[in-house]
Amino acid sequence: MGVAWLDTGSWAIAGYPYLVSHAGPGAPRTSWGRAAVLVLGIPLGLVALAFAFALWAPASGSSDAATVDTSPVAEVVTATPDLTPDPATPDPATEPIGQPAAEPSAAASETETSTAASTTGRSGRSEANRANPALDVVWRVETDDPVFFITVDDNLRDQAVADAALQLVRDNDIPITAFLTTNYVGDDGDYFDEVTSFGGSIQNHTVTHPFFNRAGADPYFEICTAQERLAAQFGDTPWMMRPPYGEPYFSGADPSSVEGAAASCGVNRIVMWSAVVDNGNVSYNPGTTLQPGDIVLFHFWDPKFAEGLQMILDIGKANGLTPAPLEDYL
Ligand SMILES: [Zn+2]
Repeated sequence: MGVAWLDTGSWAIAGYPYLVSHAGPGAPRTSWGRAAVLVLGIPLGLVALAFAFALWAPASGSSDAATVDTSPVAEVVTATPDLTPDPATPDPATEPIGQPAAEPSAAASETETSTAASTTGRSGRSEANRANPALDVVWRVETDDPVFFITVDDNLRDQAVADAALQLVRDNDIPITAFLTTNYVGDDGDYFDEVTSFGGSIQNHTVTHPFFNRAGADPYFEICTAQERLAAQFGDTPWMMRPPYGEPYFSGADPSSVEGAAASCGVNRIVMWSAVVDNGNVSYNPGTTLQPGDIVLFHFWDPKFAEGLQMILDIGKANGLTPAPLEDYL
């Protein structure tokens, strides 16, 4: 298939994230980015070569030529993703909204319920987690507390959108659990640090955002390496992991390799979701409105991320619910 590069190979690791580091995972955007690199990169590269040759030809050293030669090309490559506009198409990498293969209630083992207010946040596992260290797949939290949980995945695309969302988070003290794909963190580490500093935490969303149920996927590399990188960058080792696209749970494929890898990498909560806010719309799975214990999925790259946050706060308020740290309940 044409998307085999998503899973393995040096291209996926070295080339793909480099080309689309701010554009989010996804095949169409990649071809966009690649086309842009071709269109912009080749002419500018030729100009750079000509310039380099002009410098070199008169007699000066080749070291000058080398530095002049490479930088314009490199700039084009790194700048392309930032310049890539977000067309009307939302990100193809979006996790599915539809019904999973297995009902959430069936797929979820019983989830720890806690009324403890001890926010452990970034600093580590909650008491509930330490009391139940076995691996658990969680779609929603079984609780009677008037709370719901806000989780946000992937990477930034638009700084204005990100800033507007951060302002809401600050103003409302919203605990955000961020699931980050390490190849796309880029220069946004400070942002993720701050946006999760209101009772939330930074958790594992793999290195390259692969489909785990596709042949060639390497859950050990994806999960363990992301653990190491997130710990090194943000100071805490994650203990939750959200599988990209919700796989293998949406398709009903065998989860044993993912779960084995997660457990051996130090993850003991695989976190799915029971509601999605995307592009200003909300959908519930199951149910028709926000309920206590719902885990709501957002994406940092959603062009209406801030509006969606405000919307879910309003819906929560109408239903008597407030966002709480997921960390305290898992
Ligand atoms: Zn994702």
